[in-house]
Amino acid sequence: MSSDPDCIFCRIVSGTIPCRKVHEDAEILAFHDAHPLAPVHFLIIPKHHVASLLECDDSHRDVLGRILALAGRLAVAQGADDGFRTIINTGRVGGQEVYHLHAHILGGHERLPRMLSRT
Ligand code: AMP
Ligand code: ZN
Repeated sequence: MSSDPDCIFCRIVSGTIPCRKVHEDAEILAFHDAHPLAPVHFLIIPKHHVASLLECDDSHRDVLGRILALAGRLAVAQGADDGFRTIINTGRVGGQEVYHLHAHILGGHERLPRMLSRT
């Protein structure tokens, strides 16, 4: 399925729901997270609907590669020029809330907290 009418991120891709755009090309859209958890917090998504990494296969190799290949340049353009964190929450255990694959890019100038607590 390349677009799901019930999917909030597909509706952002189609322009039905507005976003603050960071980048757009034929395959990929990047936009600021509506509830940022860091000074820089944006999402990079494939324009074609795929629910999560659990649904990805070899046919998604190019777009997955492009998402990661874009991350550094977009992060620097947003001011995260001294490092950033990339998170892809997947499925129930991963705490995914929106079931359209997305990479979070989080940064700013302060060091981010540990990825997971050891306790
Ligand atoms: P996840 O838990 O990885 O599925 O994260 C979903 C993210 O999407 C959250 O950080 C939300 O703040 C963000 N989000 C949900 N709706 C919107 C929206 N309409 N525009 C921008 N970000 C959104
Ligand atoms: Zn979607």
